[in-house]
Amino acid sequence: MKVLVLNTGSSSVKFKLFSTKKWSVPASGMIENIFEPVSTVYFNTKNEQRIYSEKIGNHANAIGLLLKMLISHRVIIAFEELDAIGHRVVHGGDLFCEAVLVTQEVKNKIASFAPLAPLHNPINLEGMLAVESLIENVPQVAVFDTAFHHTIPSYAYRYALPNSLYEDLGIRRYGFHGTSHHYVASQTAKAMGKEIHELAMITLHLGNGASVCAVKGGKSIDTSMGMTPLEGLMMGSRSGDLDPGVIFYLMNHTQMNADEIEHLLNTQSGLKGIAGTNDMRKIEERINKNDPLAILAMEMFVYRIIKYIGAYAAVLGDVDVLVFTGGIGEHSAKTREAICTKLTLLGVQIDTHLNTRNNTLCRSIHDPSSKIALWVTPTDEELCIAKETVQVINRL
Ligand code: AMP
Repeated sequence: MKVLVLNTGSSSVKFKLFSTKKWSVPASGMIENIFEPVSTVYFNTKNEQRIYSEKIGNHANAIGLLLKMLISHRVIIAFEELDAIGHRVVHGGDLFCEAVLVTQEVKNKIASFAPLAPLHNPINLEGMLAVESLIENVPQVAVFDTAFHHTIPSYAYRYALPNSLYEDLGIRRYGFHGTSHHYVASQTAKAMGKEIHELAMITLHLGNGASVCAVKGGKSIDTSMGMTPLEGLMMGSRSGDLDPGVIFYLMNHTQMNADEIEHLLNTQSGLKGIAGTNDMRKIEERINKNDPLAILAMEMFVYRIIKYIGAYAAVLGDVDVLVFTGGIGEHSAKTREAICTKLTLLGVQIDTHLNTRNNTLCRSIHDPSSKIALWVTPTDEELCIAKETVQVINRL
């Protein structure tokens, strides 16, 4: 089978084409800065890596171009070769607890959750419509970022607000990065030679967006992101947890309106707000030169993470393994060490040699004396979406 995975973000479209035989990737790529006067197109096949600039303008054009490039670069001969298309959909509300075949009813529901994810759900839908306009009859599957977290109990997902806000407006915590947390938890269990349902795990997805998940018996029982991806850890440019009083203070004491404050909290805060950049590699370079704001940014980032780990250790009652993933989790040995050396209460002992060894595979980095296993497990959201897509198609 050939399965195309589309990940439509607010200003980009990423794609990966999978052949389900050995899950090889005949083509992958992305188009970024879609709304800028000039967008950048990356298109990779086994023999070729193309990068060029072109005006794209909107998501439908981007998807159209990527699909046509599959043919013009002879990755496929005709669209009919595609057996299914899997879409990452950010918000499935409290309705979708697993991946589903895209039908008109599903599209209506995804649209109805747009107020909860205004930057993502409409664009995810646009991706589905763009495919429909180009390819007739290819089954499309929606894989939801929120689905893995549907097992979180109500005492953890409810906010302490009047019931009517939950009942009428759906104001509750949903959690995100679910595909990634589920994937790395499963991969790590496999690598440990254990069944996922035997384990109590804390998975740390640390990238530009960052979240923690407490996974017990293979199920998410709590996660740090909330109704939107703004809650929880300090992130690349998002503030994470914040006293809501700060928002009223800003409204009352500055000229900022709600949209401007939302923009501030989503795009100008986090590591960027403190150190002026959301790029952890640059922050590390500046830490080596004793830059005080880079040092503070790293200290804050790590402090939030260890607070969540402590909280989730209490929630789980026992922790077998801590899993690092995402751009920072997978590649920043410095961040991993800074986190692990602060977890002595939990009996965590990192092996600094294993931690700094150049390795991009799923690997353990704990000392044999550690009470909790430490793993670095690369995430692959597109592969996970492709596998879930195939499961849905096989059930038809
Ligand atoms: P993601 O959103 O998962 O792509 O992660 C992006 C974050 O990972 C950015 O802060 C990058 O600076 C960080 N990152 C990527 N590679 C490295 C690396 N080799 N060392 C430190 N941070 C990295």
